[in-house]
Amino acid sequence: MTHIAVLGAGVVGVTTAWYLRQAGYDVTVIERESAAGMQTSFANGGQISVSHATPWANPAAPMKALKWLFREDAPLLYRLRADKAQLKWAMQFLQECRADRADANLVQMVRLGLYSRDALQQLRADIDIDYEQQTRGIMHFYTNQAEFDAAIAPTERMQELGCERHVIDINNAVNLEPALYPIAHKLKGATYTSRDESGNAHLFTQRLAERCIEAGVKFLYDTEILALNTDDYSARPHVHSITIQPKGENAQTFSADSHVLALGSYSVSLMKPLHIHLPIFPAKGYSATYQINPRAPHLAPFVSLIDDEFK
Ligand SMILES: Cc1cc2nc3c(=O)[nH]c(=O)nc-3n(C[C@H](O)[C@H](O)[C@H](O)COP(=O)(O)OP(=O)(O)OC[C@H]3O[C@@H](n4cnc5c(N)ncnc54)[C@H](O)[C@@H]3O)c2cc1C
Repeated sequence: MTHIAVLGAGVVGVTTAWYLRQAGYDVTVIERESAAGMQTSFANGGQISVSHATPWANPAAPMKALKWLFREDAPLLYRLRADKAQLKWAMQFLQECRADRADANLVQMVRLGLYSRDALQQLRADIDIDYEQQTRGIMHFYTNQAEFDAAIAPTERMQELGCERHVIDINNAVNLEPALYPIAHKLKGATYTSRDESGNAHLFTQRLAERCIEAGVKFLYDTEILALNTDDYSARPHVHSITIQPKGENAQTFSADSHVLALGSYSVSLMKPLHIHLPIFPAKGYSATYQINPRAPHLAPFVSLIDDEFK
């Protein structure tokens, strides 16, 4: 049986391992943490949001980024450094801000998003996996008229591409999500996407990892991947093995027929010696988890929300 090593046990690695196993491959997942979903997939926003497919690189982005550079509370912080990799990434980002590139990227992101959301819904139906999912749609709301106006064209474009995102008025927004009532006077508009959903990405990753083990996938946790080994430095080098280091042990070689790289932003440094430069530059995000007051649960949002201006 063909043996595939999946490098990284975030949501991407574990989901890849699941589908490869279902397709009949012998699969080993290698991860430096002691469990699955402990890094970026640990506490994200949990949104399954095809409606969030507007690329960050768009014609308005350079001006916004320039303004944000000087604001400590900017929704996205970008600190300029004398770093060749950062400069190269920034130049590529700027090229993608052209209107034609932004539209091409939006089309691809909506298609990928629709496909992924369908795949998730199918997986849930097939294996009955519970990860605190909520299927109540996603609402983007706007407190700035210019931001709301700018959201209308991409919303209509998404509709053309099959994403059911619609502009809704403020009354409708507050009816759908009564927790918005206290800030209703600040709202300029909203959009709502009924088939988008949300859930706990960490729980999903851990529960799917359990199902993977039941299906015969092997997991090597506490194991750092140090290098991808190849004798071939062509444009598409074949990786014949990897160098790994289990915690407290010496480095050793691990061989598989194929390798899937799912190390998030850490993929860049492992690919560099192969002369493959991935256009990935890590960004930092924050999340906070709150207990809902049991005496006033109605004050907590029921629908998954995005304050689009402040991300
Ligand atoms: C604050 C925040 C909010 C977000 N909200 C959303 C959202 O609402 N919806 C959404 O779709 N996305 C959201 N995202 C993005 C989403 O979380 C990521 O795209 C996703 O988790 C990436 O998964 P991954 O498997 O690619 O990476 P990761 O989860 O980072 O997995 C990579 C794994 O590789 C392992 N690894 C790395 N290097 C090595 C090595 N050398 N050896 C061994 N193991 C290694 C790491 O330990 C890690 O477990 C958010 C991100 C952040 C930060």
